[in-house]
Amino acid sequence: MSTETKNLNQNAVIVGGGPAGFATALMLAKRGWHQITVLEKRPAADFYEPDKSFNYLIDGRGQKFTDLFGLTEKLAKISVPNTEFYLTEIKADGNRKTSKLPTRVSNRKTGYQLPRRAFLQLLFQEIDENWQDRITTLFNTKCLEVNNKNGKLTIIAQGINDQTNYQFQPDLLVGCDGINSLVRQTLDKWDNSGTDKFKMQFFPSASSGLKYKVLTLTPNFPLDHNNSEQAVCTMAYAIRGAFSDSQRSLSLVIFPFANPNEPRTAVIVTRPEHEIWKLQDAEKLSEFLEKSFPQFPINKIVSSEEKERFAKSEGGSFPIPQYCSGLHLLLSNTDNYTGIVLLGDAVHCFPPDIGQGVNSALEDVFILNEALEQTNNIISDSLPLFEYLRSPDIKPLIRLAQTVFPWQYNQNIVGKRLWSINFFMRLFLSKILPFIFAPAVILIQNHKLSYREIWSMAQRTTIYIYVLGMVLIFGSLALLLDNF
Ligand SMILES: Cc1cc2nc3c(=O)[nH]c(=O)nc-3n(C[C@H](O)[C@H](O)[C@H](O)COP(=O)(O)OP(=O)(O)OC[C@H]3O[C@@H](n4cnc5c(N)ncnc54)[C@H](O)[C@@H]3O)c2cc1C
Repeated sequence: MSTETKNLNQNAVIVGGGPAGFATALMLAKRGWHQITVLEKRPAADFYEPDKSFNYLIDGRGQKFTDLFGLTEKLAKISVPNTEFYLTEIKADGNRKTSKLPTRVSNRKTGYQLPRRAFLQLLFQEIDENWQDRITTLFNTKCLEVNNKNGKLTIIAQGINDQTNYQFQPDLLVGCDGINSLVRQTLDKWDNSGTDKFKMQFFPSASSGLKYKVLTLTPNFPLDHNNSEQAVCTMAYAIRGAFSDSQRSLSLVIFPFANPNEPRTAVIVTRPEHEIWKLQDAEKLSEFLEKSFPQFPINKIVSSEEKERFAKSEGGSFPIPQYCSGLHLLLSNTDNYTGIVLLGDAVHCFPPDIGQGVNSALEDVFILNEALEQTNNIISDSLPLFEYLRSPDIKPLIRLAQTVFPWQYNQNIVGKRLWSINFFMRLFLSKILPFIFAPAVILIQNHKLSYREIWSMAQRTTIYIYVLGMVLIFGSLALLLDNF
C-alpha cells in the first residue's frame, strides 16, 4: 500500500505554531498526511512580539530540516551567514573596534542568522504556498483542553477574538506548545505509571533566572552624536555602558539583520535586581540610558512610545534547563491507536546560551520523520521508535545547555573569569592534542555528532584534564622532593 493511501484517514492536530509546530505540519504534509490542523494562539506567523524579537542562528542541525524541504536556499537569502559575522564594539569613551566573530569552525556548514519572526514567516509561507490543501492553520486560536474518553482523543480549542468553539478527534496530537505545554501537563495528569516521565526535571545553570527585554531601534541609526557614521544592517554591535557597578553596568547587543529596512533590536540581558528593571516609565528610562551610554545617541533612535512599552513590559527570564523523559503516549481504542508526541520546548527547554533551542526542535522533527518513514507511518510503531531514537540525546542536550556557556552575560565577573580559564584551557589543549581533548562549545557546531556523542566527548575531556592536572601536581611534587 502506498504511503498516500495509508494516510487517507489519518489526521493530526498540532498545538503551537512556533518553529517546531510549523516544521511538523510541513513534515507530515510532505509524508502524505491530509488533514493537519495547527492551533496557534498568536494572531499571525510574523506577528511582531517585541520581547521575542531575538535572532536565531539556524546551524547544520536545523538545516537537516530545511534541506529536507529545499528551504535552505530561501533561508540563506533572508539571513546573515556566520561566515560574514562582524561585531563592532563601541566603548563608553566612544572608541570603536570591529572584529570578525570567531563563531564558526572552518569545516562546518554555514549557519544563517535571522529574526525569529522571519524564520516563522519562512515556514508559514511554505505552508501557504504549497500545502494549503493539507494544512489548516488556525491563528488566534487557543487549545483549552485535551480529553481522553476510552482511548478516543478530543481536543477542545477556542477562537480568542470570536469565541468560536472547535473540537477535533485526531489520530495524532503533536504538542509543540512550548515551555508551559498544556499537552505535556495533560499527559502528566493522566500518567499513572509512577515514573513521573512527563514531569520536567530541572538542572539549574548560571544563566537561569536572568531577565531580558528587547528594545526596538530605528533601522539605520547613527553610531555617534555627530552622525559621522550610520550602522550597517548586517553588522552586530555591542554598545558598552559607562557604569561599572553591578547594579547599573549594562551592554546593548544589537543583532545583524539581512533586511536593511527591518527595525533593529537591542537585547538587554542582566540580573533581575538590576536598576533598569525598576524604571517604570519612558522618562526615567531615557535618563538612565542617556547616562549609561553617553557615547551613543540612544535617545534619538528609540521612540518615546517604545521606551514606554519597554518600561511597562514584563520581559522574560531565562528558564532553568529542563526536560521530561517521556516523549509520547499511545491510547488504544476498539478501532486503532491514537498517539500523542511532544517536540521542541515542550519537552526540552533551556536558556539561549548555546543557540540550540530552535535547532534541537528542528532536529526533533527530522527524527520523527525518520521514525515515521521506518514504520510506514503506523503511529503505534513510529512514536515508540521516535522516543527510542531521540530520548538518549535529551539529557545530554540539557547538560550541555547547563554547563557550556552560561557565564557569557557578564552576570558575575568571578564566574566569567573562571569559566574563561576553563574554556581557553580546553581550546588550547584541543589545538595541540585534538584527538584527546574536545571542547563542547566547538563540538556543538558539528551537526553530524549527536548531543549524546558531544556530551560524552566533553566529559572524557574533563576526565583527561583531571588526569593531566594530577600528573602535573604529582610530577612537580616528585621533582620538589627529589631536589631536597
Ligand atoms: C531570549 C531568547 C533568545 C533565544 N535565542 C535563541 C537562539 O539564538 N537560538 C536558538 O536556537 N534558540 C533560541 N531561543 C530558544 C528558542 O526560541 C526556542 O527553543 C524555540 O522557540 C522552541 O520552539 P517551539 O516551537 O518548541 O516553541 P515556541 O517557539 O515556544 O512555540 C510554541 C508556540 O505554541 C503557542 N502556544 C502555546 N500554548 C498554546 C495553546 N494552548 N494553544 C495554542 N497555541 C499555543 C505559542 O503561542 C507559540 O507560538 C531563545 C529563547 C529566548 C527566550
